[in-house]
Amino acid sequence: MAHKLIVISGPSGAGKGTIKKELLRTGTVVESVSCTTRKPRSGEVDGREYFFLSREEFERRIAAGDFLEYDEHFGNYYGTPLSFVNEQLKFRSVILEIDVVGGFRAKAFMPDRCVLIFVKAPSMQALEERLEKRGSENEEERKLRLSRVGYELEQEKRYDYVVVNDNLAAATARVREIIEQETR
Ligand code: ADP
Ligand code: 5GP
Repeated sequence: MAHKLIVISGPSGAGKGTIKKELLRTGTVVESVSCTTRKPRSGEVDGREYFFLSREEFERRIAAGDFLEYDEHFGNYYGTPLSFVNEQLKFRSVILEIDVVGGFRAKAFMPDRCVLIFVKAPSMQALEERLEKRGSENEEERKLRLSRVGYELEQEKRYDYVVVNDNLAAATARVREIIEQETR
């Protein structure tokens, strides 16, 4: 069986995290925990949501070639640790929930192993409602996230698969089916 690096991207609020959680719960994939230089939010635990690093440490690791891909968002670095991914891929498929730029970098790094899945909401209105309902960002942060949606949606054509998350159970089943096909 060929284990794959599964990248899930799409606009903030599309439902990526919810779908990923379900795939993790059923053991379809294991998650890679990224490193970041942003400060932990309340309730976040080092090593669970992210490995929280100083800028100096992150830059040292970039220079050492420790990241499969990394990028800067909103003034902070975010990156995928290469050693963890390589180790896990011996045994199981790994899922990354990262933005489109990170997705393209992951694909360039592992073209044969990386599967790009784009998740989107059925409409802009649905997306805005979901973000608002989730309530994890204030209005300014929501606007910033929504301002990126146009760019992200333009990139979906460069993804291997596009899944519209209208009905959550159906979208989750479709993503699971894609992973099963790809790892067969
Ligand atoms: P993302 O990780 O893409 O930013 P989330 O998984 O946090 O998005 O989902 C955003 C919000 O939308 C959450 O409150 C989630 O419960 C809700 N949600 C996810 N999928 C659906 C769906 N198919 N229909 C309605 N609400 C959904
Ligand atoms: P947040 O600060 O809200 O947790 O994440 C901000 C952004 O960083 C999101 O768009 C998220 O997808 C992206 N991100 C998280 N981890 C990584 C990573 O390892 N690499 C890249 N390129 N982006 C990431």
